[in-house]
Amino acid sequence: MSLPTITARIADACTRAGRSPAEVTLIAVSKVQPVERVEAVLAAGHRIFGENRVQEAEGKWPAWKAAHRGIELHLLGPLQSNKVRPALELFDAIHSVDRPKLVRRIADIAQETGRCPDLFVQINTGAEPQKAGLPPAEADAFIRNMRAMDVPPAGLMCIPPVDEAPSLHFSLLAKIAARNGLAGLSMGMSADFEEAIAFGATHVRVGSAIFGERVAG
Ligand SMILES: *Cc1c(COP(=O)(O)O)cnc(C)c1O
Repeated sequence: MSLPTITARIADACTRAGRSPAEVTLIAVSKVQPVERVEAVLAAGHRIFGENRVQEAEGKWPAWKAAHRGIELHLLGPLQSNKVRPALELFDAIHSVDRPKLVRRIADIAQETGRCPDLFVQINTGAEPQKAGLPPAEADAFIRNMRAMDVPPAGLMCIPPVDEAPSLHFSLLAKIAARNGLAGLSMGMSADFEEAIAFGATHVRVGSAIFGERVAG
């Protein structure tokens, strides 16, 4: 478990960027990790975690939430419309908002329950056909629409293409956020979170660098 190492690297990256570490939230991405690795990070006092699937998170986190105060859960993976209700019950933030239909469903249930997580609009900055997220050119209208529906986004999220320099994607995401007056920037993973911090990341999503490689299965 190298949580202290990652925390120190985040602090160093913030110093180099002239930012305060308090501006950067570390989301420990616990998807498909063995229970004992997650429990070690909980025991170390970390409380902010990310998961990719509603169903997997439903199986693990209610018990940990009952056992530890102050747990904050972030949904990072694609969200199906029929999973919005359980997602809104379990998660404090959703980083994969990318379809008008999904926004409508979130708005309906949020109005009914009076509870809405922080919403991040996922932008497909590399325009990759197989990847989730909104084309950059559609971002401004989509954000306006969310505000009009009373579910204003907290920020933007991206996953850069694996074979390109992430900095281009981080700077594009920061530009779209700035022109839309959005403070939140969910970007940076194990391989590139320091670079993301240099470009203004407010939320870094770090899995394998904290927990070790994910076991396939
Ligand atoms: C799995 C995942 C991460 C963490 O990836 P690592 O490379 O293990 O840090 C971050 N963001 C998303 C959306 C993911 O699916």
